[in-house]
Amino acid sequence: MAERAEYANERTSIHRIAIILASCVGFCCTSVGCGGDAPPATAPPSSPVAPPAFTSAPARPAPTRPADVPADSPRHPTEPDQPRRNLGQLLNGSGDSPEFVAPEIARMSIDDAKVRSRGIRKLSSRHLDLYTDLPSSPAVDELPQIFDLAVPQWAEYFEVAEEKAASFKMIGFLMDEPNTFRAAGLLPDSLPEFPNGFQLGWEFWVHEQKEDYYRRHLLLHEGTHGFMNMLLGGSGPPWYSEGMAELFGTHQWQEGSLKLRYNPQDKTETPDWGRVKLVREEYAANRGMTLPQIMRYDSRAHLRTEPYAWCWAACHFLELHPHTQKSFLALREKSNRPTDFSSRFHEQLLPHWSEINEQWQIYVAELDYGYDLERAIIQHHTGDPQPVAAAPGKAVIQADHGWQSTGLLLAAGATYRITAAGTFRLADEPKPWVADARGVTIHYHDGAPLGLLVGALRDPSGLAEGGVTPLLQPQRIGVQRDITPRRDGVLYLRINESAASLKDNQGQLQIQVERI
Ligand SMILES: [Zn+2]
Repeated sequence: MAERAEYANERTSIHRIAIILASCVGFCCTSVGCGGDAPPATAPPSSPVAPPAFTSAPARPAPTRPADVPADSPRHPTEPDQPRRNLGQLLNGSGDSPEFVAPEIARMSIDDAKVRSRGIRKLSSRHLDLYTDLPSSPAVDELPQIFDLAVPQWAEYFEVAEEKAASFKMIGFLMDEPNTFRAAGLLPDSLPEFPNGFQLGWEFWVHEQKEDYYRRHLLLHEGTHGFMNMLLGGSGPPWYSEGMAELFGTHQWQEGSLKLRYNPQDKTETPDWGRVKLVREEYAANRGMTLPQIMRYDSRAHLRTEPYAWCWAACHFLELHPHTQKSFLALREKSNRPTDFSSRFHEQLLPHWSEINEQWQIYVAELDYGYDLERAIIQHHTGDPQPVAAAPGKAVIQADHGWQSTGLLLAAGATYRITAAGTFRLADEPKPWVADARGVTIHYHDGAPLGLLVGALRDPSGLAEGGVTPLLQPQRIGVQRDITPRRDGVLYLRINESAASLKDNQGQLQIQVERI
């Protein structure tokens, strides 16, 4: 028996991502501890598969262009000021040179015998001299080797010639007891306090971490800063600099093989990293960020941990989205030219901004370990949507993909019966799970049965600027449901499952929509 539902225009139940957009205009971090501005109160967060809300979002102000950081600040955003050497000043003016030549920044001169007498040992590889007061252990002693494996990956991504990368060598300090390094003259008093890591010139400093993964992560994070600043001549505005350091810092180290820009499939792969968790927590607390907001982070925002998570998420998203990846990749050639860096990038995205923004909303709302953005990309229908009149409309929905347009236009006030036929496989392991549009009730996702067919009506003209996508508030459909839309809209459908788990699905559903 078909369920019947009335679709009301429930503006009060706008999903919590509305908050993201409400604070979009004019928000800019300007001081330590910013970014946590409390959003206005809204209705309590509801499950995305909660009852009715095929609503169109109310119009909101258009997002403003991201502001660029000043042209003289390509410095490490976790480092508020650099009293010892102002790298930004040294590099200023060299940005238009296609072949950046590293300025003469002196490397720290270290008396190895003297520091050894203070309990600081030296581990050396081709690209790194690492000084540490930690006792010998495989996880510490292999760090220079890991650093060496990262250099060709940085060089390939940033298109730095092999011979130029060959001479790249940093000095790192891995500190269990910072005072030991300070007494040895290896931790200058002129450096600011830093919670985890700090890079300046050819050197970086990293505090000891309890997890092997996160120790490596920080080493690679600071190494990315060093590579960009010293071989590219800069690392761009804070969102890009920290986002790239996080992207390259997030890695897989397995059986002697290092993979940078790794998308963790499970939290156990990246102990203490927590970027996915932070984005989820921030979003749940109504502190979700838009892409323009992230691009407006200033150099002090990164004294808090959350901006690292947002910058990682932004770069992860921009690197993979089909409408952003080309322009995003081109940023690597502009990292020594921070002037207009973000605003020009934003301008390049404007032709597809509505789609990008809508996808970002879904990405933030559903981010999880192993998030498969490729499968989560909304599949729109080519051509004009077709009204469902006397003849039923038909569509096919793939089980291994996220939102898909049926191409069918449903009119306000009319009643339609949606029917879904067929079965699909939800997983292969430990045994094949076959489901129909009702899904399986032994496992739930977002408060509804896994595999349940869900739907939403989307405005035929797409997402209005400042709007919230109705795809964040899907409606249960199952094998059959009657609906009466309050507004005209194109029917979008998908099965209820995390984007991280779609890849092992097989099969499709045959959809029929008839006007009754
Ligand atoms: Zn950093």
